[in-house]
Amino acid sequence: MANDLDFTGRTALVTGAASGIGAACARWLDAHGVKRLVLVDMDDAGLSLLELGCEVEQIIGSVGDADLWERIAPTLVGLDHAVVNAGIGGSGALGEHDLDTWRRVMNVNLDGAFYSMRAAIAAMKASGGGSIVFTSSITGIKPVPGIGAYGVAKAGVAHMARIAAADHANDQIRVNAIAPGGVDTAIWESSEDFRNSVAAHGRDATLKGMAATTPRGSFATPDEIAGNIGYLLSDAAANITGHVLVSDGGYSL
Ligand code: NAD
Repeated sequence: MANDLDFTGRTALVTGAASGIGAACARWLDAHGVKRLVLVDMDDAGLSLLELGCEVEQIIGSVGDADLWERIAPTLVGLDHAVVNAGIGGSGALGEHDLDTWRRVMNVNLDGAFYSMRAAIAAMKASGGGSIVFTSSITGIKPVPGIGAYGVAKAGVAHMARIAAADHANDQIRVNAIAPGGVDTAIWESSEDFRNSVAAHGRDATLKGMAATTPRGSFATPDEIAGNIGYLLSDAAANITGHVLVSDGGYSL
């Protein structure tokens, strides 16, 4: 019987690969036989820490820079899979956002996802098809007070996946998204409230407190989310496109 989670001979793009969910996806794909990874991140030191056995091409730059995607198009020749994942945190009431906050979050989390997807689709059309998974968020589905532009961008990402799935089904390209609840990654360090709580109570107690409203009682690990993404990318999900997979430990119930 064929192993539908086998990525032998495949090429995959992962954005935001230096940390958290993206790094876990790079490791997951490597462990499942991928031949070549194109890893995009602004953090070159973080990318260099990844220990991978496959061929790796590191691209240092911002996903929100449209010119970056023109420059790296040649490295995407033969692309089979893409994890459109890079993102930054953001918080605050929507009505109190200044334009800089709005644009900064939208540039990385929404424009960057669009540029990444567009480059991946161009490469996949040339190579006869492929699959893409976007990292959205449960905050793109459930309105959470104080999540601001971040939640708006993540709702856009989830719907972008569904529209792209409809647009490119005939190109043999599947497009899905994952909507994680809380995941234990470095993204939380950008929140002042989080940093203050860690200083006062420690990281474990802070994460446990934040997960108190999640039936599971804990955040996901990056490896758990990478496994979900890997499944959606894989041939095991060949019949799934335009789906937004909620992986939130029951938070949104
Ligand atoms: P993380 O901070 O550990 O990783 C994010 C990575 O993206 C970092 O390596 C960072 O350098 C990179 N990055 C940020 N801006 C970039 C840019 N402009 N260009 C290129 N790379 C950039 O966080 P994470 O939790 O692994 O985040 C991955 C994705 O998961 C994000 O889209 C995030 O919004 C989403 N997400 C996270 C959670 C969570 O609780 N951690 C929940 C739902 C969704």
